[in-house]
Amino acid sequence: MHDPAVLRSMHLARFKAEPSVFVAPGRVNLIGEHTDYAEGFVMPVAIDFATLAAISPRTDGKIVLYSENYAEDGERTFDADAPLTASKHWTDYPLGVVAILTGEGHKIPGFSLSLWGDVPLGSGLSSSASVEVVTALAVLSLICSSYPGPVLARLCQRVENEFVGTSCGIMDQFISVNGKENHALLLDCRDLSFKLAPIPADVALVIANTMVKHSIAGGDYPTRRRESEAACAVIASHRPGVPFLRDATLEDLEKWGREMQPKSLMRARHVISENLRTVAAEKALEKGDLKELGRLMAEAHNSYSGDFDGSCPEADLMVELAQDIPGLIGARLTGGGFGGCTINLVEQSQAKAFAAELGKRYAARTGIVPQIHVCHASGGAHKIG
Ligand code: ADP
Ligand code: MG
Repeated sequence: MHDPAVLRSMHLARFKAEPSVFVAPGRVNLIGEHTDYAEGFVMPVAIDFATLAAISPRTDGKIVLYSENYAEDGERTFDADAPLTASKHWTDYPLGVVAILTGEGHKIPGFSLSLWGDVPLGSGLSSSASVEVVTALAVLSLICSSYPGPVLARLCQRVENEFVGTSCGIMDQFISVNGKENHALLLDCRDLSFKLAPIPADVALVIANTMVKHSIAGGDYPTRRRESEAACAVIASHRPGVPFLRDATLEDLEKWGREMQPKSLMRARHVISENLRTVAAEKALEKGDLKELGRLMAEAHNSYSGDFDGSCPEADLMVELAQDIPGLIGARLTGGGFGGCTINLVEQSQAKAFAAELGKRYAARTGIVPQIHVCHASGGAHKIG
């Protein structure tokens, strides 16, 4: 995380006003892929890459936004009273927060906001959710208001869905708000109930970027979703009370799988088994059984790559190359699929050497130099100082 004191003095120099400073983390999903829209389980972890926000009130009714990450853009100024619209620019994320909060009946006054993050942008570690959450905390503090964590997460998800125009689930915002140091969070996407599961302090999260872009907007993602939902419809035609694959079992697939398109059957088998694995992973962490967790992660990767066909050769290779590097507990592709990052659970004492060796092996085999980050399970969004 960048130094909050540095952001504070940058904000003070730029806006001539002493700010309040907030932080919200990025995240990585430990296990539970493509289970969210089936009302199932996911298990993300907040990481120690985060976005900081410094905010101070203004008296001229303007909203002035600055991001150190986009310093070349300078400041952007908006009218706090005018209707706010998206413009496919980074300012959509903080402005969307103002728009959604205004829609909830809040009167948002003018303010100056400085952002500065070290969550890699567009790498699947959810820099966007961290911007939404940190801005929401900052703006709410200005009007002396607050929301319970799950409600705040929902409002920030709406920023992305309704203002920015990205169809994402609630996981990213939820973990950024509710994460806890040295813990993963098992989230039930049906009712947003959650359980924290301990990650030992001597375990590192090594996130390896294949540098291959995932294409959630592309077509693969909606196709997979449609295929798995078609399988659910077949089950529901026999067994009402299965509106989502969350409610289906592997026995259902044995009974009625023959009536499904082969691809639908495979996609559903991934979603149903992934839900079971995700719940089991929480139990393994609870017991401190890292070996079992590693086994579940390996099984999850095979299911994601095989049954769900959601991986790519580079991600499969990154997982394969990790297998015999000392310190590995478990490795799998994380995120929406078709590229992006793998998550490797690694003994802390070996993490640096592990990251170096994995990077070397991957570059030798693909000619691509991967970005590899050594992270730790960190706390959720909060005010600093
Ligand atoms: P991801 O969430 O996986 O990092 P997204 O494409 O969803 O990728 O979000 C990245 C976008 O979020 C950036 O292109 C930018 O518009 C915005 N963003 C993220 N971090 C910052 C920041 N520190 N300052 C300004 N905008 C940011
Ligand atoms: Mg995002």
